[in-house]
Amino acid sequence: MMKTTQTKDGFDAIPQAILDRLTRVDMPAVAGIRPSEDCLSASGIEIPKYTCEALVLGSGAAGMRAVVELHRRGVDVLVASTGLFAGTSACSGSDKQTLYTASTDYKGDNFVKYAESLCSGGAMDFSTAYVEAVGSNDAIGGLQFMGLPLPHDDQGAILRYQTDHDEAGRATSCGPRTSKLMVKVLFDEALTLGVRILPSCSGIRIVKETVDGVERVCGVIALHREEKRNEYGLVFIQCEDLVIATGGPGELYRDSVYPHHCHGGLGLALEAGVELCNVTESQFGIGTPRTKFPWNLSGTYVQVMPRVYSVDEYGNEINFLKRYYRTTREMVSNTFRKGYQWPFHSARMLDYGSSLFDLAVFLEQKAGRKVYLDFLSNPDPVNGGEEFSLDDLDPDVRAYLENNEALFELPIDRLRRMNPLAIELYRMHGTDLATEPLEFAMNNQHMNGGILIDDWGKTRLQGCYAIGEAAGSHGVTRPGGAALNSGQVFGKRVAVAIKRSRLNKTEFTPDETNILSKLGDALSEASSFLNGSSTHTPKSVKTEIQARMSDYAGIICTQSEVEAALAAASDLRNDVESNGIKVGSPSLIGHAFRWQHMVAVSEAVLTALNHYIQNGGGSRGARAICAESGTACPAAKSEDLSSFRFIEERTDDRNEKLLVRRIGDAFAVEPLAVDLTPTVNREFFEKGWGEYLIKEG
Ligand SMILES: Cc1cc2nc3c(=O)[nH]c(=O)nc-3n(C[C@H](O)[C@H](O)[C@H](O)COP(=O)(O)OP(=O)(O)OC[C@H]3O[C@@H](n4cnc5c(N)ncnc54)[C@H](O)[C@@H]3O)c2cc1C
Repeated sequence: MMKTTQTKDGFDAIPQAILDRLTRVDMPAVAGIRPSEDCLSASGIEIPKYTCEALVLGSGAAGMRAVVELHRRGVDVLVASTGLFAGTSACSGSDKQTLYTASTDYKGDNFVKYAESLCSGGAMDFSTAYVEAVGSNDAIGGLQFMGLPLPHDDQGAILRYQTDHDEAGRATSCGPRTSKLMVKVLFDEALTLGVRILPSCSGIRIVKETVDGVERVCGVIALHREEKRNEYGLVFIQCEDLVIATGGPGELYRDSVYPHHCHGGLGLALEAGVELCNVTESQFGIGTPRTKFPWNLSGTYVQVMPRVYSVDEYGNEINFLKRYYRTTREMVSNTFRKGYQWPFHSARMLDYGSSLFDLAVFLEQKAGRKVYLDFLSNPDPVNGGEEFSLDDLDPDVRAYLENNEALFELPIDRLRRMNPLAIELYRMHGTDLATEPLEFAMNNQHMNGGILIDDWGKTRLQGCYAIGEAAGSHGVTRPGGAALNSGQVFGKRVAVAIKRSRLNKTEFTPDETNILSKLGDALSEASSFLNGSSTHTPKSVKTEIQARMSDYAGIICTQSEVEAALAAASDLRNDVESNGIKVGSPSLIGHAFRWQHMVAVSEAVLTALNHYIQNGGGSRGARAICAESGTACPAAKSEDLSSFRFIEERTDDRNEKLLVRRIGDAFAVEPLAVDLTPTVNREFFEKGWGEYLIKEG
């Protein structure tokens, strides 16, 4: 056992070496595969060709799980990724980044209840929720086997806590960097298995072919930064099955806590005619801004109840929350609740709830003031004479601090007691919470929607699968940690589905003429980006899209603003499609393709949102749909919030997903009914066993 020292409060301090191991995670060195010698010639240009049975695009936690599971099943898999350790999994986190899986302690879990908690917000089939619930055991067991350091007690039960939308306490964590550690152990495993890896390689086009009247995937056109045999680095990866694991569209919003350069693959899918679903559903909440160190501020960062204040242009500190909450106790209890009610939710703005905090922060930002958490002082009082006191807290707040033996005088001491890793993490990124305040903001963090998949991760395009944040597997709400679990569960399920489908597959030889023609199109598009005279650049398109999405499609929306935003997004897309996006050198072609995709993604999201609002959809999930005709209005102690009167959710809307796809020159929206009935088809052992053995081959 490592030697420990005691803190000034008499507790064993966690040795620095352990804190370092969980925050400064070293990733393995990865040597990509040798350049392929197989080449195609399109328009007289040499295009290297790679061949595999299954191609996984993206190397986050979801993609790497699929890679490992496919390889273990004997499928010849290749993973190609823009940035091996560049996605959300490798670069994001929170105070204790959460993995939500079936509880393994005490009396175990109830999968039906678990599934109900996943789909309780609607727009998600119960069956999808159930496979995620049941599959979570295997997801977490596999990760533990590969070395994920999840904390457990001496009887082997994993330590758990309660997270957002979680009634049962199914959350667990390895600390701030759970998902990075997941990527690490999955990469270690992939390297041990000898999986083929193509780093710095971005898919830009899905190539399809029609076989027996059915469209299917036959490969992907990609840009490989290390490829020099043509000026753009264009390569073709031929595959029979494609797994899109490209993460979420983090670049959609200006106010965002995603790491930089997360474009995701929704544009790639839309272009190939693949449907998206639930793209109206996202998460927004407090975090440190992306211009500094993008990090989520849920959990202990707020449960220790730091002083919250804003600073105006003259440098005055403002206790702005006192204009919203009526008593100090109400204000600090809601600050605390942001810990496990992290995402904004319109209904929680009511009755002085925890999303009134979010609205207050949002309005301070809109007024041009910066907002801070100060861990060195307790919250300022709301009314004169009513000081913050640990003896005057709501019972759940007091109990939490008591149970964690964290009833210390200052927020920083409470944080040091409950989560020293949370302090360490910011120290590593240049902010010492023990000496300075932390600027924060309301940010976009996660898209619950994405590519429409079935319960095997299949899209409606044959041979095309989607997993992780690229997939629209979640409903309107999700418990914190369910995203990482979903990526693991579907990472395995697509491997099972692909392996099974290969057993009955007829030999398929892709049509080379078709591939060469698609390569020719990509080459001429690349050349037009370089040689055209468009006034749009990747930077101008990015600025326009991000501002529009943050200003009109964030937590507060109105029908007229969304409609106007959609019209502007359509204009941009038409213009970009006619005139392109100008780049100055062949090495920048990738930016043009990516931003061309984002132009379509932003229009698709606004089309779905506009459809939802026009058809009477109310406030749910991440957004308040505000209107004078609204039936609910948040109240504040001394702030007029009448302009935030909002339309309440219609329960019927929970019974469908909204699909959006490209048809010709426009995006079409169509509802798809979901089945929320909690029924499970149970199988008898001997009958099910035989069927299983045949399916597995
Ligand atoms: C601040 C923050 C905190 C979060 N906290 C939690 C949490 O506590 N619990 C939870 O469950 N979820 C959390 N999430 C969400 C969760 O981290 C992500 O949903 C998840 O990590 C996504 O994993 P992924 O493998 O799907 O994608 P990513 O990890 O984003 O990986 C995508 C990969 O695809 C590559 N790529 C992208 N486009 C292409 C292309 N065209 N071609 C090839 N490669 C491509 C990228 O380079 C990257 O390697 C959080 C997110 C953020 C931003």
